[in-house]
Amino acid sequence: MVLPYKHEPFTDFTDKQNRADYESALKKVESELGQDYPLVIGGEKVYTDNKFDSINPANKSQVIGRSSMAATEHIDKAMEEAKKAFKEWKKWTAEERAEVLFKAAAITRRRKHEISAWMSYEANKPWGQSDADTAEAIDFMEYYGRQMLRLGQGREINDRPGENNTFFYQPLGPGVTIPPWNFAFAIVTGTTVGPIVAGNPVLMKPSENTPVVAYKLVEILEEAGLPKGVLNFVPGDPAEIGDYLVDHKDTHFVNFTGSVQTGKRIYNRASVVQEGQKHLKRVVAEMGGKDTIIVDNDADLDLAAKSIVDSAFGFQGQKCSACSRAIVHQDVYDEVLEKAIEKAKAYTTGNPGEEDVPMGAVVNQKQFDKIKEYIEIGKQEGELAYGGETDDSKGYHVSPTIFKDMDPEGRIMQEEIFGPVVGFAKAKDFDELLELANNTDYALTGAVISNNRAHLNRARYEFEVGNLYFNRGCTGSIVGYQPFGGFKMSGTDAKAGGPDYLLNFLAPKTVTESW
Ligand code: NAD
Repeated sequence: MVLPYKHEPFTDFTDKQNRADYESALKKVESELGQDYPLVIGGEKVYTDNKFDSINPANKSQVIGRSSMAATEHIDKAMEEAKKAFKEWKKWTAEERAEVLFKAAAITRRRKHEISAWMSYEANKPWGQSDADTAEAIDFMEYYGRQMLRLGQGREINDRPGENNTFFYQPLGPGVTIPPWNFAFAIVTGTTVGPIVAGNPVLMKPSENTPVVAYKLVEILEEAGLPKGVLNFVPGDPAEIGDYLVDHKDTHFVNFTGSVQTGKRIYNRASVVQEGQKHLKRVVAEMGGKDTIIVDNDADLDLAAKSIVDSAFGFQGQKCSACSRAIVHQDVYDEVLEKAIEKAKAYTTGNPGEEDVPMGAVVNQKQFDKIKEYIEIGKQEGELAYGGETDDSKGYHVSPTIFKDMDPEGRIMQEEIFGPVVGFAKAKDFDELLELANNTDYALTGAVISNNRAHLNRARYEFEVGNLYFNRGCTGSIVGYQPFGGFKMSGTDAKAGGPDYLLNFLAPKTVTESW
């Protein structure tokens, strides 16, 4: 019997025993750092001469692991294995496929702190953030398994006399999953097991920043009994194999999460029908955000400051949902800003691989340089109210940074920075709060802090985002509770962790019999 879905609880790190358990997991992982990792093609481990190092962002000299790199011939071989595997995998019933996910969820739950500890090193996730990431991955397995059980029954349609109609879903065929590094385990898992449980073999190309954590999913699914060739693991240089994966004539879908720049390129390329290709490719492209919290004049101002600061600086601001704009009613602007600066002081940076710190380092040199450049831009466009310090001597540390009195049309308020930087701007009334909230190319997450019911009612329909929150921060969606995704340039709004997600990887079929 399958119990109703309930999300995985988070670990309470105020509990001494939990902290001790997490510290043991960090020690275990530390003893395993620096190993070589293979590609996995048709169930076979392939070690290539060409490898890249994954490093700890808070300690550049610490190698987390060395990942083999796939070349185009490995992609061809992986696609052949996926096609072979598809012949059998598509015949497994929804129950049989879901069972693999439920088992994988149980294995992950058993290895929970260990997986989270890998993320504390490789992605520099503070303990609580890592724990939530692993919990989300477990949720994806449990939730998509159950969604497949539902969809496996098909849908009810009508019959006329002398006619029997059925409507059911079939998988598309092999496809490609390309996740980002920031939800190093959760998004890798969700974007991989979703298409797989729907019956489609996958070639998964993890981010070059977090290949080791992604490999843990391969281990877990293998242990859970996923047949060979259903998941092929092909890390590599996106400049060399990215287009090749997307363009491949046998790719049926591309399940992408990442930046707008990459998403647009994939969307464009996937639309071209290649020689020998006998289908149109589906593209799921979940992309960036420029997420805003608006604060009304009758709001709870402590709640407003806490929501802004936690959403802006949690995991170093490296969430697509992170708050990077606070638009505040002029009556309460100064007070909210002052409270936010006070709260930001708690967000000190350190190395989550060593201790439970509020923030780790940002992911790599490129991101560090980019954020530093934006801090300089911010100083020109407005006024630095707090933070702005950077240090890349040992790791890529950026202090929590608040800019005030920003031009809502300026670069700080329009472009995705993907770091711990938030800009404040003022609005004269609720109309202007909403207008400024909507003046970006993105539509991913947003929040309204207000005690005015009429204003909340208006925002429900007029605030242009895929995930809108009232009187809380704008991060932290939960699978099966807050299906996630955005529109406008934030993407195709696939709503990961929602009841319609698997339909992206299924072809509905109608069969009619007369008698
Ligand atoms: P990115 O676009 O640099 O990379 C994402 C993935 O695409 C990586 O695996 C990368 O190797 C791959 N890639 C790069 N070039 C490619 C190409 N030409 N062809 C195929 N694949 C290619 O993004 P990132 O830095 O890894 O992630 C951060 C971005 O992801 C931010 O913009 C963030 O907002 C977004 N994001 C969005 C969501 C969402 O649900 N909307 C969730 C998490 C992150």
